Amino acid sequence: MKARGVFCPSCMVVHWSGEWPRECVEARQNTKRGSVASPYIRTDGMDPLLNHANGQMYDSRSAYERAVKDAGCVIVGNDIPDTKEPETLSQNDLKRDIKTAIEQVEAGYHGPQ
Ligand SMILES: [Zn+2]
Repeated sequence: MKARGVFCPSCMVVHWSGEWPRECVEARQNTKRGSVASPYIRTDGMDPLLNHANGQMYDSRSAYERAVKDAGCVIVGNDIPDTKEPETLSQNDLKRDIKTAIEQVEAGYHGPQ
């Protein structure tokens, strides 16, 4: 049987079947039926995908994620990398910004709330 992930409304992540933390199971059992519009079900199947860390193909999402994690790697999104050059500040601009920040903190500023 393939592992199946189910969205946990208690901690807002997907837990795999057989890997639910006790507190989440209890919270789920105590949840009134119908309080969630519909369960979020994430199927485990996917198009075959090559794991570049070990050279094996996977059609199980959970097996793939586990193999990537076991290889010490992290799955990231498919966002387009930001190719924009980072803004460079002159030493004078940098000194001015640091001085301004110090003055703001000394005046009681605690950053955006
Ligand atoms: Zn949970």
